[in-house]
Amino acid sequence: MAAENQRAAACYHECKMPANDTHLPVNLLGQSAEELRAFMQSLSEPAYRGAQIYRALYAERRFDVAKMSNLPVALRERLAREACIALPQIVRRYRSGDGTLRYVLALPAAESGTGTKLTKPATVEAVFMPEENRQTICISTQAGCAVDCHFCLTATLGLIRNLTSGEIIGQVLIALEENRATLKPQTNVVLMGQGEPLLNYEPVTAALRILLDPNGMAITPKHTTLSTSGIIPGIDRLGCEKIRPKLAISLNASSDEQRDKIMPINRKYPIEDLLAACARYPLRPWEHLTFEYVLLGGFNDAPEDARRVAKLLANLRAKVNLIPWNPGELPYRKPDEARSEEFRRILDDKGVRAFVRYSRGQDVMAACGQLALLESAAPRAASSLEQISPAQ
Ligand code: SF4
Repeated sequence: MAAENQRAAACYHECKMPANDTHLPVNLLGQSAEELRAFMQSLSEPAYRGAQIYRALYAERRFDVAKMSNLPVALRERLAREACIALPQIVRRYRSGDGTLRYVLALPAAESGTGTKLTKPATVEAVFMPEENRQTICISTQAGCAVDCHFCLTATLGLIRNLTSGEIIGQVLIALEENRATLKPQTNVVLMGQGEPLLNYEPVTAALRILLDPNGMAITPKHTTLSTSGIIPGIDRLGCEKIRPKLAISLNASSDEQRDKIMPINRKYPIEDLLAACARYPLRPWEHLTFEYVLLGGFNDAPEDARRVAKLLANLRAKVNLIPWNPGELPYRKPDEARSEEFRRILDDKGVRAFVRYSRGQDVMAACGQLALLESAAPRAASSLEQISPAQ
């Protein structure tokens, strides 16, 4: 894998977008089967070669065109000159005591053939969480975020830039490939890292089409969750997609007054409108909505909050994930276990399924955006966490 990383890093410098700059290598990563077929036709190759590349890249995770043995040698040689696979570059890895791996990934600037900057360089995080029978991969959809939730460290970065579909897919490919030897049969993907996915709609849905394609990365919709702060136009639009993941809503408050204080987006999309969008969201027979509720000690974790939340969600097919605040530098405290459990019990008693989730990898700065913040602001502080070499 170290060699793969070196190749990816090399490709990183050579590979630029967009695809129609004929003198620049074309980045294959993030392209759909149709786009790859069209690319093959533009090279006067049969269109089905595009489907072969698609399979080799996403289903078999071959990141070097020279190793796409389903292609003729002459085409592989041509692709080595004219195309590349620009994976994000692993800058650092951190392993938590519970086995969670956090990757700090560098994303390069993309330039056009005229040297015009299309995107600027950025750093994001992806997290790999192994469990007994499955692994969960948490990925970012933007570098930084503009939504400004007050309990979130990513918010303090502001929006740096949107990620491309290739940069979104690349995080899953890297996490799977790095852990190839120990992969369990089931993979869950959660879009809960840096960024608001529904504010980067087109690249996110393009990446999801590849992720959820049985001929692509073959992750099932049941095992893929997109989490939103409550962008109502995006929720409505996602509901119209043929291929879509499960939906999670970051609620975190029991009233508008409370939510306004920690999620300014609530002033634009208040709770009543948000829940109306949830009510019209077309759930599939097997599906439910997930509401995430970060328990901020002394702010939103009182029994009366639980009763209000139960009332708000009473008519929805929903479950609630309660996430006790993971202490960071922000001004909230961790609620004690008994209070979290009481909150859960009140919801349960009122017919709303609820679970207390303790976020994993806390010793590697598990709250979203924390590592990137350390990396950008104080690399020495980040280096005090357990860092592992590629060989480990
Ligand atoms: S919680 Fe999510 S939507 Fe809110 S600021 Fe953080 S990354 Fe953005």
